[in-house]
Order: sequence, then structure tokens, then C-alpha cells
Amino acid sequence: CGVFGVTGVTDAANFVALGLHALQHRGQEAGGIVSHDAAHGFNSARRFGYVRDNFTKQSLMDTLPGPLAIGHVRYSTTGSKGNTQIRDVQPFFGEFSMGGAAIAHNGNIVNADALRRELIDRGSIFQSSSDSECIIHLMARSLQRKVPERMQDALRRVEGAFSIVAMTRTKLIGVRDPLGVRPLVLGQIGDGWVLSSETCALDIIGAEFIRDVEPGEMVVIEDGEVHSHRPFAPQKSRFCIFEHVYFSRPDSILGGRSVYETRRQIGVELAREAPVEADLVCPVPDSGTPAAIGYSQESGIPYAMGIIRNQYMGRTFIEPTEQIRNMGVRLKLNVNRALIRGKRIVLVDDSVVRGTTTVKIREMLLDAGAQTVHFRIASPPTAWPCFYGVDTPDRDKLIAATMSEDEMCAHLGVDSLRFISLDGLYRAVGEAGGRDPSQPQYCDACFSGEYPITPTDRVEKGFRL
Ligand code: 5GP
Ligand code: SF4
Ligand code: MG
Repeated sequence: CGVFGVTGVTDAANFVALGLHALQHRGQEAGGIVSHDAAHGFNSARRFGYVRDNFTKQSLMDTLPGPLAIGHVRYSTTGSKGNTQIRDVQPFFGEFSMGGAAIAHNGNIVNADALRRELIDRGSIFQSSSDSECIIHLMARSLQRKVPERMQDALRRVEGAFSIVAMTRTKLIGVRDPLGVRPLVLGQIGDGWVLSSETCALDIIGAEFIRDVEPGEMVVIEDGEVHSHRPFAPQKSRFCIFEHVYFSRPDSILGGRSVYETRRQIGVELAREAPVEADLVCPVPDSGTPAAIGYSQESGIPYAMGIIRNQYMGRTFIEPTEQIRNMGVRLKLNVNRALIRGKRIVLVDDSVVRGTTTVKIREMLLDAGAQTVHFRIASPPTAWPCFYGVDTPDRDKLIAATMSEDEMCAHLGVDSLRFISLDGLYRAVGEAGGRDPSQPQYCDACFSGEYPITPTDRVEKGFRL
């Protein structure tokens, strides 16, 4: 998901709509905005579909006045998955004795089932099936007087990944879990302040990037001032390495590193680890593009656009049902036949999950007369599900969970298939010495199976670590 908030500007919701539009790659199922103004109090609008199809309408934006607003774009990883219901669309809102608060959450709460059971037993009435709603109910039960303190109370009971943007009548609040699994940045626009999942959304509204909200930090912004709190016991951070590989936009800066440059560097590492003789290096667009550029630069094999992407389609993986995903590849990608015929092609993609994309692209390329098709993948084999906010399927659907690289290569019918090593990936994100196995610098559980946060609910349901 993507989260965004602004305070201290006229018509904050307009800025939020633009910010969410720039974060649309993080969630395409639905979006919502809450604003506050003196005359009406809290205003809220939640809609299915793209930001641009909803939050550009004057009639809707007129219902969201005020100098303070937050928003959310949804990509379902819990709750009503695949058939999002409007009640699961954020921001969520709660009314407490000292006034209301709205929250927008990116990440996944791994003890949400346990918390929900406990809260329902004690009288909470849940409105949605979303894990994030627990936070509102925990806040309602806190005995603290002020909203930020209530939120701290609540979040100390929450296990998992959370980057949250929240608001009260007067405050904009940002908080990241102690491991800082998902991103969140702070920016400035004139006298106003901005919180965003990624820096690309600061750029779109002309805000200046100030710094990351740090892992385990809560920032409370009021009357133009930013106050920093440290509500959790300090831990070593474990940022999601897959944000660098796929999830974030290439024009964003994560933890001081350009996502584009990291991806290009992954391609360089891949060319060193897994060279092959070929005529052309082609990306599977758009997610494989920077790594393909790096592979081409390092190998000296010319880069070319062997596959053309229809710009009007969304991300295939993110379409939640199997059927839509299967159609998606063909609707979205088409082979550049004139270029491909008779050539030995290296295709670079960011990841192999079920293998659907790889099979379809191999078929399309061979149909178009390619001589050989080699795949190079910008992440290690995805062998484990993510419980922290990326919707990887269960292990039985992950092709790397049951097959070796050679078996996958045979199964997918390609001439060769190589994945970047975990150490190569760490070098590409700037860890010159590779991965520190005693204390990994990032979360890489979907590749390593080493979960930095025990997925409590899933373990209870029988998931074996
Ligand atoms: P597959 O077709 O192997 O099931 O999925 C791999 C493709 O899904 C890649 O092209 C990748 O760009 C895309 N993808 C989109 N969203 C995600 C995601 O959340 N996780 C992973 N691993 N891949 C994703
Ligand atoms: Fe990111 Fe993978 Fe960790 Fe999930 S399991 S947070 S996708 S690195
Ligand atoms: Mg892709």
C-alpha cells in the first residue's frame, strides 16, 4: 500500500490526491482521503479504483476541504483479498473522548487475528476485515489522554510491519515499526509538512525531501513543528530488500539510495555472476528495465526493447485473482517481432513467483522466432511468502519453494535461468561485504526463509518456519 499526508497548506486533499497518484504502483485496488476543516470537522471519501479516476473530480474534492489531510492507496494483503469491499478501504477513522483520529497503514500486522479475537471478546465492534483496524480499537481502549500517546500504547501491542500516516484535528503523525520494514519519508512544502511512502510523491507536489522517518520513530507535526518520539525499544533495522528490487518506484530514494541505481547495479552483479553469450539484452518491462540496462552495460551485449508494454495496464501481479493475472500478461506485454527474429535473447525480470510471466514470455518470444531465450532474474528465488505487506502467495504456489534452479529452468522451458545470489543483491544495495548472516542488514525472508518478526497468526494456523 501507499500512504501520504500533508499539513499546513490550503486544500491539503488536492496535494494528497497528487501524492497518492504518484504512489499508485503501491496499490491499485482502491484509495481514500480524509481531511479536516474547522467548519465540517473530519471529511472522508473512499473509492474503488485508480486515484486519477476518482480524486480528480471537482465535486468530490470539494467535499474534502481543509489544511490537513491524509490518504491511502490499497493493495490487499489481508482482509477482503481480491474482492476489496469498501469497508476495508482506508483511512480508518475513530472517535475518542478527546476527539477523532484517522489512520492510513502500509504493512501487515502479524498478530492481527489474536488481537481481533481479544478485542471482540472485550466489546470492540469491528467494521472491516482489515488487520489495520485493530490499531483504532487498541487506541480506543488506551487510558492515555492524547492521541499520539494512545497510538504509542496501541502500537506497542502490535507485531509486524507498519508505516503509518495518521491525523487528528490539528496534528499530522507518522510512525514506523521498530525494524522499519516499510518506507516512510518526511518532506517540506513551503511552511507545510508532508509524509509519504516514497520520495517520488514529494517530487510530484514540489515538496523538498527532508529525511526518512526512522525505524521505531514517531513524528508528530503540529503548528508547523516536527516533534520526534521513540516509543519502542531500539532494535537493529531490517528494511524490506524487495522494495529495492521491485516494489518502490525507480525514481525514489530509499534509505539514501537511488532505487534506479540499485536496480542497475543488480544487473551489473547479475552479468558478473551469470554471463551468457547472446545478441540482445531485453527487459521484461517495466520492472526489469533498470537491471537489464545494468546487465547490458556490464556484459557489453546491446540493450533493446524486445517486449513492448501497453502503458494503460496496471501491474499484473497486483491484480489479485489467478484468472485476471493470467490474462494480464498478454494484455500488457507484446513481443517486438521485427527485432527478435533469429536472435539469442537475454531477458531480465525482477522476480519469478509462480512462473506465469516467465512461461508466457518464453512462448511469445519463441513464437516470434527467437533463437534462444535466457532468463536472468534480479532477485534470488522467491521461496517463502511475505507476511509484512507484499502479497506473495502461499508456499505451494511458489515455484522456487519446491524446485531447484535447474528444475525450474526445465519446467519453464527456457534455455537458461539464473537468479542473482543473495550476496550479490546485498552488494547491489550497497553492502560491499554482502549479507551478514549473523545479523542480516535487511529483511529478505521471502528469499531466505529467515523471518525477522515471527508471523504469529500464521504459525498458529500451522505455518512452519
Ligand atoms: P510470476 O509471473 O512469476 O508469478 O510473477 C512474477 C512477476 O510478477 C514479475 O514480473 C514481477 O514484476 C511481478 N510482480 C508484481 N508484483 C509483485 C509482487 O508483489 N511480488 C513479486 N515477487 N512479483 C511481483
Ligand atoms: Fe520484503 Fe520479502 Fe521481507 Fe516481505 S519477506 S518484507 S517482500 S523482503
Ligand atoms: Mg514484472
